[in-house]
Amino acid sequence: MNDAEVSAAATLEPVADVAHRAGIPADALIPYGHYMAKVDTRRLPGGPLHGVPPGRSGSPGQLGRVVLVTGISPTPAGEGKSTVTVGLTDGLNLLAQAEDAPADWAGKTAIAALREPSLGPVFGMKGGATGGGYAQVVPMENINLHFTGDFHAITAAHNLLCALVDNHLHRGNALGLDPRTISIKRALDTNDRALRETIIGLGGRTEGVPRENGFEITVATETMAVFCLATDLEDLKDRLSRIIIGRTRDQRPVTVGDLGPQGAQGAMAVLLKDALHPNLVQTLGGSAAFVHGGPFANIAHGANSITATNTARRLADLVVTEAGFGADLGGQKFMDITSVAGGFPPAASVIVATVRALKLNGGMALQELDRNTGDAEQQHLEALGAGVANLARHIENMAAYGVPVVVAINRFPQDTQAELDWLTGWCARRGVPAAVAEVWARGGAGALDVARRLLEVLPAEGVDSGWHSLWTEEMTVADRIEAVVTQIYGGSAVEYAPTAARQLVQLAEEGWDHLPVCMAKTQYSFTDDPAVLGAPCDFTVLVRELLLRPGAGFVVALTGAVMTMPGLPKEPAADSMDVDADGNVTGLF
Ligand code: ADP
Repeated sequence: MNDAEVSAAATLEPVADVAHRAGIPADALIPYGHYMAKVDTRRLPGGPLHGVPPGRSGSPGQLGRVVLVTGISPTPAGEGKSTVTVGLTDGLNLLAQAEDAPADWAGKTAIAALREPSLGPVFGMKGGATGGGYAQVVPMENINLHFTGDFHAITAAHNLLCALVDNHLHRGNALGLDPRTISIKRALDTNDRALRETIIGLGGRTEGVPRENGFEITVATETMAVFCLATDLEDLKDRLSRIIIGRTRDQRPVTVGDLGPQGAQGAMAVLLKDALHPNLVQTLGGSAAFVHGGPFANIAHGANSITATNTARRLADLVVTEAGFGADLGGQKFMDITSVAGGFPPAASVIVATVRALKLNGGMALQELDRNTGDAEQQHLEALGAGVANLARHIENMAAYGVPVVVAINRFPQDTQAELDWLTGWCARRGVPAAVAEVWARGGAGALDVARRLLEVLPAEGVDSGWHSLWTEEMTVADRIEAVVTQIYGGSAVEYAPTAARQLVQLAEEGWDHLPVCMAKTQYSFTDDPAVLGAPCDFTVLVRELLLRPGAGFVVALTGAVMTMPGLPKEPAADSMDVDADGNVTGLF
């Protein structure tokens, strides 16, 4: 069965029952149909969610801890971080009820926190983001399509801002915005390369002011980043008001807060207020899961909303959450940006590794990865041996943040026993706790070994994990980029294109030099070149441009050819999708 068939065959519990078991009071639940709901966090025990929330019994010490699931440098299809996140959550909950549960885990609970899928990858190349096989959040079809409408709300709020900016120009431009400097682009949650660069306002005096503009995919916008980093509605408005929309002729920044008599943040927040409530769904194993917000991890910070994670922390002992792409991207950003903004230093990190991706990193061609039996076996083991350096680098990187690390070897049906044995043996020789995860084939039961390894390395409750950021407060933007490039990527130097060099000076002059940095980089390589796989050393990363995003609270450093509006591939997933007269969808994985 494919993912959609497994999901369709499942018997789902009414969302009210899932909520009840998770400790969510009925009056906090806003159902969207039978199996999905938003949770009004103001009605949770402990009162409204402001900043870091009070714990389950009202004291911060009682909050659930966060486990970050991240991964090695991936193949284009993904290595199963969402799948392992879901399966591990189910495995932890199974173990808590088992007779032989570890003493300090008996009776405890785990909740998953994931990003919402973007329609770009769903209809493009990578696919959905609801996990796979028997480790999925359900109903997968709804979650992968319009879900509870959050992305539409974010797109609408962002485009409202754009319309207000162009109306401001049309109505006389009292703020003195230089139209050539307007950095806000329209948003659309579809891969559409033809909209990367546009000219708007054509048609004459009544049709607006002509200027160059363009589109970003919704998941790359600052509005999405703000939505996911905001701790509550007030913080959302504050952050929105700080978004820079462009500059005056004398280079002064103009913000959302400057538009109109009271700023545009209020109107944007009106469109976002319901979307900000986290979405509750269930896993195939019956665990509660929050699926909320969804910035890309290569061009944005790559983690689900802080409101979802903090809500889950009030309800469960462990929150298992995923950050996109490899540990060099989503992992680094979770450690240095998301966990800091949300007030939840991770208690541990699980690195998802696959035999397939390691062989790719070991120099094997994509189309060869699954031809690993018979005479070819030795050659495949050699590629695995060469590619494991990639895993080693990611393990070192996560360990450098001070947190315990576990490797989850996500078993694919085509993996041979010899390959799995080799990889397990490598981890054992290195002293890295590891286990094979069979969550895709067996759901939570296939995650029990990983769950046990995780519980073994978790610090005792109330004891710090040892987490520390790569950055210190005093570090400048350039220092922070250098730290990521040299300490995480393994590079030797950072180069700045002339535009980026000028922007670096401007950031310092304007007092933004202390902000965190969100690196925009290819997910395939530690370098800025997607063709350089494995664990390269001694390379230079070229920063093309620096984008100031004060709403999100960071500076985006664009490296390589990373785009904020992806295009569709030659054979988009959309080509094989259909719906029959009864509404049954096919081709959605
Ligand atoms: P990531 O979160 O790392 O991008 P996903 O969990 O979304 O990866 O998985 C990507 C795709 O791979 C999904 O279609 C999923 O069904 C599939 N997949 C994940 N793990 C396995 C596995 N062990 N065996 C087969 N397919 C898998």
